[in-house]
Amino acid sequence: MLPYFSDYFGNPGSLSHPYGWEAEAAIQSARLTLATAIAAEPEDIIFTSGATEANNLAIKGVAEAYHTQGRHLITVATEHSAVLDPCRYLQTLGFELTILGVDAEGLISLTDLAAALRPDTILVSVMAANNETGILQPLAEIGQLCREASQSRSNRHKILFHTDAAQAIGKIPLNVQTAAIDLMSLTAHKIYGPKGVGALYVRHRQPRVQLAPQLHGGGQERGLRSGTLNPPLIVGMAKAVELAIADMPQESQRLLNLRSQLWQQLQGLPGLFINGSWQHRLPGNLNLSVADVSGAAVMLGLRSQLAISSGSACASGNAKPSHVLQAMGRTPELAAAALRFGIGRFNTEAEMNTAAQVVIATIQALRQGRSELMP
Ligand SMILES: *Cc1c(COP(=O)(O)O)cnc(C)c1O
Repeated sequence: MLPYFSDYFGNPGSLSHPYGWEAEAAIQSARLTLATAIAAEPEDIIFTSGATEANNLAIKGVAEAYHTQGRHLITVATEHSAVLDPCRYLQTLGFELTILGVDAEGLISLTDLAAALRPDTILVSVMAANNETGILQPLAEIGQLCREASQSRSNRHKILFHTDAAQAIGKIPLNVQTAAIDLMSLTAHKIYGPKGVGALYVRHRQPRVQLAPQLHGGGQERGLRSGTLNPPLIVGMAKAVELAIADMPQESQRLLNLRSQLWQQLQGLPGLFINGSWQHRLPGNLNLSVADVSGAAVMLGLRSQLAISSGSACASGNAKPSHVLQAMGRTPELAAAALRFGIGRFNTEAEMNTAAQVVIATIQALRQGRSELMP
């Protein structure tokens, strides 16, 4: 990223001089890297400020472009607020919303989805990997269902499939062709890239997706997202994706091993429940609920020793128990007493041992009411 703050400072939109060309070349190369990572084409990639903006552009952009064909949207109760809130906003404008539930594993039912599709459904938005539990939804099956339902329609209006893949890119293989995905939101900062940059994949050829821009102005990004691009951040995002994908098979296995190690060591403690499917989840995620303790007290006890969270960073400011865990059938008490372990590239076996010891000691002390161990 560094040279693009100083040596190559041109505006990639200024194509009348070499400064602009250098920046433009870097953007094109980043666009190709991202497109290749998800089996898309460079023209399909629209750079944004992150996944929040990509989700807003996808959902509101589709609603605005297709509202004459239908006003029904489908999403899932466990989605990130950056999907649920734009959908709820559209409800206030007269769109109809179906929010699918999930089972105790955190997975949607394809039968429920098929039953929810209506002649006026224009968009299905289902995330690739959940940000709290790491649960992986069956993207290829969902894409196939949307495509088949579209083809059997008398009006042939396409049911578009959007997926928020903020947590999935660089961690699991993603293929927009085989999974029949029309729109996909990405972000850099969940894979060690810079914060404040992301992208929306928008299928630009057969079947081409129409999108109403949400930012109007200079017409950058095929007119879909006006505003001068930020070369250092975009170069950083592409590098982060490239590194994550190059390492994916080995890194997934390493994370799975670390997670098993952590989970095994925590077995010494009774009253721990895994939240969500063990099998269908990101390798680096372990989400547990702890019985008989207050979630807030556990977090308070751990925070000087572990960088851990109870749920989403976007929700950690408020004390509401996770909507994701409650949608999976957890009581508000168990949902509030959740620990989300995120195991990543720089974690080691020794750190798993430390984490397990600290968690066990903290919870045992809380259960025995030994408050002198608490900060
Ligand atoms: C982090 C995250 C977002 C928001 O992404 P930003 O780039 O921070 O706007 C959206 N969806 C999911 C699933 C996320 O994990």
